[in-house]
Amino acid sequence: MQVYKFGGASVNSVERIQNLGKILQNKTDNEPLMVIISAMGKTTNALEKVAEVFFSGDTDNALRLFEVIKQQHLTTAKFLLVTHYNACYTLLNDFFTEIEWLLHDKPVREFDYYYDQIVCIGELLSTAIVSFYFNEIGVANTWLDVRDIVRTDNNFRDAIIDWAKTKTAVSSLNFATDNIFLTQGFIGATDDNESTTLGREGSDFTAAIFANLLNASSLTIWKDVAGVMNVDPKQFPDAELIPELSFEEVIEMAYYGAQVIHPKTIKPLQNKGIPLHVKCFLDINLPGTTIGQKLVKHLPPIIVVKNQQALLTLHSQDFSFVGEQPMIELYKIFSQLKIKANVIQTEAISLQICLDDRKEKIEQLALAASTLFDIQVTKNLTLLTIRHYNEAILEQLTAGKQILLLQKTPETVQVLYG
Ligand code: ASP
Ligand code: MG
Repeated sequence: MQVYKFGGASVNSVERIQNLGKILQNKTDNEPLMVIISAMGKTTNALEKVAEVFFSGDTDNALRLFEVIKQQHLTTAKFLLVTHYNACYTLLNDFFTEIEWLLHDKPVREFDYYYDQIVCIGELLSTAIVSFYFNEIGVANTWLDVRDIVRTDNNFRDAIIDWAKTKTAVSSLNFATDNIFLTQGFIGATDDNESTTLGREGSDFTAAIFANLLNASSLTIWKDVAGVMNVDPKQFPDAELIPELSFEEVIEMAYYGAQVIHPKTIKPLQNKGIPLHVKCFLDINLPGTTIGQKLVKHLPPIIVVKNQQALLTLHSQDFSFVGEQPMIELYKIFSQLKIKANVIQTEAISLQICLDDRKEKIEQLALAASTLFDIQVTKNLTLLTIRHYNEAILEQLTAGKQILLLQKTPETVQVLYG
């Protein structure tokens, strides 16, 4: 039993969907397969816009924006399908109608509820088209509405999985008769059959849930890059592929802001020791990266660069040492405002906090903390993190920069500069 996950970039054109068909046709082993697919390209962003416009009360414009998404999917289906086009069209139309009904109503519930009802359609449409296409080219598969399987609470936009109920639903799948199931990532449903989503980029997590509950031998996440690189190749041209990584290293990388794998993905795999392969759908012969239980030594320096950072310097108002009490208060404010600090450094009478520069959050934080501290804010900074650093690379990457904060552990160095 294996699980494959294909992201939005792998299904963003007719050619790419045809390419997925080839990947499955070339799969030589006969292991049953669960395939998880995202919404096509930037569909999720486009649907977010529909939800916002609808919620603002502008039904006409919401319908107009939705019409564009509809036409894109119908065009893709028309290019890909011959014998299965009519059946696909009927299914797509059911989904369209559901959304259009909703868009004709006036919003009476909270935004996040509508967001999930609207946004979930992206994965339903893409998987419906891909499933019919696979069947048409002889890759026999059964399409599943994942909302019948992945049960969640009703914390819309960031729903929490009900593992017990999801497990029961997964165990009713019969892989003896259906060798390939094809379904959606990122979405689920409550006990009342209301659609939910698991947070942006959540389909990696869905794939890990299935891998865990199916006791899969592996999960493969197919991407448009060669595998996990030691640095974003868009930022550094001499980025190198890392062939093997441990689950722990990937969690650390995600923590420091590397956009490799959705961090929630790791735990369900680690718990059952299921290896995660990151492979390139553009060239299946590339070896990719394997992530597993084993500790991997001698990793190259792994570099994460985060721009648009702000530094808050907090001074105690009466020159007293920064003790536990103000720290407790400060962490309470963080949690209320859902702020995650990227670096914190304490000194005798001051505290330095580096965070993503999100204007409204910083204003709220500065206001809430102003009863405890005098506050200074510096913006437009860059936070560089190097795991497995050496002095030479630290020197090279910080030469000529004005360093405002530096924190080192034996494994990791973080530098904030202007
Ligand atoms: N389609 C969703 C998103 O773009 C989920 C995913 O692709 O993982 O966030
Ligand atoms: Mg994605």
